[in-house]
Amino acid sequence: MTGLSGVRGLRTAALISIVLGAGAAPAQPLCEFTPAADTGPRMPGLIIGADALLPDGRRPGHGVHVRGNGGIGRVTDFDTLRTAYPDAAVLDCRGLAVLSPGFVNAHEHPATSYAFPDPNLHPGYAHRDEWRLGAGGKTPLPIPERYRFAPENPRMSAVLTAVELRHLLGGATTIAGSGGAPGVIRNIGRHERPGDLALYDAEADVRTFPFSFSVVEDLADECRGGPAHTFPPGEDDDLTFMAYVPHVGEGRAASCAARAEVARYLERVRRRDRRYSLVHGVATDRDDYAVMREFDVTLVWSPRSNLALYGETIDLGAALASGVRIALSTDWSPSGSLNMREEVRCARRVAEASGAGLSAEALWRMATASGAYALGLEDRFGTIRPGLRADLMLVRHAGGDPYESVLTAGGEDVLAMWVDGRALLLSPALDARLSERECATLPGVAPRVCGVLEDLGLSPVRFADLTRDAVPVNDVRRQAPCEP
Ligand SMILES: [Zn+2]
Repeated sequence: MTGLSGVRGLRTAALISIVLGAGAAPAQPLCEFTPAADTGPRMPGLIIGADALLPDGRRPGHGVHVRGNGGIGRVTDFDTLRTAYPDAAVLDCRGLAVLSPGFVNAHEHPATSYAFPDPNLHPGYAHRDEWRLGAGGKTPLPIPERYRFAPENPRMSAVLTAVELRHLLGGATTIAGSGGAPGVIRNIGRHERPGDLALYDAEADVRTFPFSFSVVEDLADECRGGPAHTFPPGEDDDLTFMAYVPHVGEGRAASCAARAEVARYLERVRRRDRRYSLVHGVATDRDDYAVMREFDVTLVWSPRSNLALYGETIDLGAALASGVRIALSTDWSPSGSLNMREEVRCARRVAEASGAGLSAEALWRMATASGAYALGLEDRFGTIRPGLRADLMLVRHAGGDPYESVLTAGGEDVLAMWVDGRALLLSPALDARLSERECATLPGVAPRVCGVLEDLGLSPVRFADLTRDAVPVNDVRRQAPCEP
């Protein structure tokens, strides 16, 4: 142990004693834990027993083998697994917990997702160019500075880490979007600079706008009844091996520019030359959903951000009736949900207001497998299937519908979050040996955070100090409103 981590350990111990109070005895662990047998250089992995949410439904008392390489191995009944891998470590939470794939947040802007909503945020914009550029004489919103992870800038690095911890606490194991912190949550983006190799685990083309950065201006003549505008050809046709996940139709259905963007994009997807997704699509309608369904285009939906900026969102009833695939995502903190569970909550409000039926299982698919599909990475993560990465969440079973337990878990209900088989969050209710890394207690945060602050070289106190002005990791009170 280095001197620095020794100091860190002392501070952590001090915080824990504050949290537990003097003389508090550690509670009996919630689930039975058996460490792995000593198998020398072999890696016997970990067997988790729980109510498992698999692609074809829920399996009470099931077993999932997390291999020593961070991948998912066999998925079968618990006793069969124990017999097959007698040396593996075992976490038996059967009847007590639900095991789900982590949420896949297919659309975020991590580099700017530390900022609070601006006081002038209001649902009065007709197209994104109005709040971005002041088009139509509207007052633009401030765009937060893009933060970059860099050793020479501990504050930016800590703030980006806080963004990722916030999403991890909210159930996500993957976020797609440019920027972020390497080695915390799984990041997806496009490899363009050397540092991107360490940051993005896999690629998707998340460049923001497919046609132009000033669509309203470019289409002004066309929208006044003039000749159709021709955008210059895109530079993206050489990237057909990765999914295309751009913002399209981000404006009211009454916005000519937003409608024109949708029409052009849905012409492009007819090429069927790559995985296409469509972020926002506020200005989409019933006919668009039919085309998207036919050409396998996933709608990446951020209802809170839509409502906060435009006062409307997709035609949910028509979208659900069409069978188009929908993936939930948070967009960014200045107008979106602060984590995926808050986005689920907002989606439910929209469903209630529009009379559309949206079951807990359907919402869970929007937040997991459909997000991975939107990114073209469904063979890497997003479901519990042999061969995929072990990006998992374990939450307390609240009784009743296990999908509800996953969607509505509070901080105390989060038992563990694994990314690539590494426990990054671990509840004090579970055996501490489930993490090989040092776990720190952050003030006000129920699960302990494992390895993350250690990698940053920061104590919990210093981390709290550096992130003081940013959106907190576990307090959503200042997020944008969701008012359908
Ligand atoms: Zn966005």
